[in-house]
Amino acid sequence: MQQIISFKLLPSEAASDESIRKYISSTTGKKLSSISGFYILKKSIDARGKTVFFNLTLNAFIDEPFIERPGLTFHFKDVTHADKKVLIVGAGPAGLFAALKLIEAGIKPIIIERGKDVRARRRDLAQLNKEGVINPESNYCFGEGGAGTYSDGKLYTRSNKRGDINRILQLFVQFGAPENILYDAHPHIGTNKLPQIITAMREMIIGCGGQVFFEKKLTDFTIQETEIAFIQTGDGEKITADAYILATGHSARDIFTLLHSKNILIEAKPFALGVRVEHPQALIDSAQYHCQTRGSFLPPASYSLVQQVEEKGVFSFCMCPGGIIAPASTNPEELVVNGWSPSKRDNPFANSGMVVQVEKKDAIQCLKNSSQFNYINDDDPLLFMHFQQMVEQEAYHAGGGKFVAPAQRMQDFVSKRLSTSLPENSYLPGLKSAELNNVLPSFIYSALAGGFKAFGRKMNSGAYGNGYFTNEAIVVATESRTSSPVRIPRDSETLSHPQIKNLYPCAEGAGYAGGIVSAAMDGERIASIIEKKLFSL
Ligand SMILES: Cc1cc2nc3c(=O)[nH]c(=O)nc-3n(C[C@H](O)[C@H](O)[C@H](O)COP(=O)(O)OP(=O)(O)OC[C@H]3O[C@@H](n4cnc5c(N)ncnc54)[C@H](O)[C@@H]3O)c2cc1C
Repeated sequence: MQQIISFKLLPSEAASDESIRKYISSTTGKKLSSISGFYILKKSIDARGKTVFFNLTLNAFIDEPFIERPGLTFHFKDVTHADKKVLIVGAGPAGLFAALKLIEAGIKPIIIERGKDVRARRRDLAQLNKEGVINPESNYCFGEGGAGTYSDGKLYTRSNKRGDINRILQLFVQFGAPENILYDAHPHIGTNKLPQIITAMREMIIGCGGQVFFEKKLTDFTIQETEIAFIQTGDGEKITADAYILATGHSARDIFTLLHSKNILIEAKPFALGVRVEHPQALIDSAQYHCQTRGSFLPPASYSLVQQVEEKGVFSFCMCPGGIIAPASTNPEELVVNGWSPSKRDNPFANSGMVVQVEKKDAIQCLKNSSQFNYINDDDPLLFMHFQQMVEQEAYHAGGGKFVAPAQRMQDFVSKRLSTSLPENSYLPGLKSAELNNVLPSFIYSALAGGFKAFGRKMNSGAYGNGYFTNEAIVVATESRTSSPVRIPRDSETLSHPQIKNLYPCAEGAGYAGGIVSAAMDGERIASIIEKKLFSL
């Protein structure tokens, strides 16, 4: 028989097959020898009490042969000579998952991507990290796999109503991700493993007869009546297709500007902006696991924090235990930071975005005060994009160039005191001590200062005195690409743009996703709707 069993184990027990089998035996009253095997259905960590536990739910095989975990089977067709073709702009998670779904439907995807393939892209990242020189077409956001390739690869999402999360995770496993992403409460792949997975997806797409072109950028398109007739790329090529998916991500400012210049409806979309904070990982472990040092069976600890300060939401974003702070800019003279971690999460630092919700009135006020932006139009759909740009430029110049980031110790930040030294940190282009209250908009600064103190009160245990609120933590500006500052609207039924019937705004850049899984699900959703339209289903 097969039996689904749940229990709580100590970390050392959860790491041992033998202990788990003993638990199955004692829970079911069956002999140890009758248990032929098991697989885990759910695994989560419970660190609320003094003793940390793992909660496990598993399927145990008793008195019958063990069968491996059932997987989903995907049928990718040969689309080399398919009648229907769909052009996908952008090879991020949305573009790649849309392409795979189209292939399942017998439709040929043609992907154009402005950046380079994963391998060539790595050299551009090295140049950015070591020499502070950016390639605006190939960086942490642009290139094969989009922002997802050199991301942290956390695969959890709250948008579980928007698609089939399990299908997305199963596809990741089929292309090389570890099986534990199927049952971990907070699945994580890690930056070191993502490039191979993305490469395997591309090879499948090409193997099935789809096409993928790198260093090919959408620069214009021609509309006839209410449809795109063809698109144009930077190298002068014109491409025609039965439908066009626009999956260009939240950093493709030229796409937002192009749409706006053609009087195609786009909308200003509020987003969140702030800083990235880095602590020693040992400090976070100690505070979260209530111990001196983390036991060897526990993963590096994470946190998720939220606080209302002066009627503004301050919250942690994309927390990376054992991680690295990365320069995630796409343009020269604009400073953006983000975070990632390898699959083992074995770096000595814990970083997280700490951001504040930006409302229209705040952005307008800041832009009006800026001599550089000289802002006058409150209804400009690019309003938040300009605000984002303004803060990124301010941060770049405060760092003194070459993507050196302005930074301050946390308690100095709150006291508006220049840090006389900065702690060891993970940010490769380097940090420069700066008074961040002069770099960040004042409403962002004061909400963050209030947030840090409140988080210190929430995470105050452990072997490190002040816990979260400490001068051992460093605050780095600026975390500004949390989501798209623009929404590209779509019709609620056809999911195409209200003015252009064969244009499908997709995923994060259009404002319909935030993260790898939700972007992948939106890519699939758009592909399914196009399938129905093209085959009149
Ligand atoms: C350092 C870092 C860490 C992150 N960590 C996580 C994480 O742990 N978990 C998580 O869920 N999310 C994470 N994210 C965010 C995640 O990567 C994005 O949410 C996701 O990739 C969005 O997918 P997308 O397909 O909508 O867009 P993108 O991934 O941004 O892809 C868009 C693609 O379009 C291309 N493009 C843009 N303009 C053009 C054009 N004109 N012509 C042709 N191509 C174009 C770009 O080059 C890019 O490849 C992280 C991001 C970064 C940068």
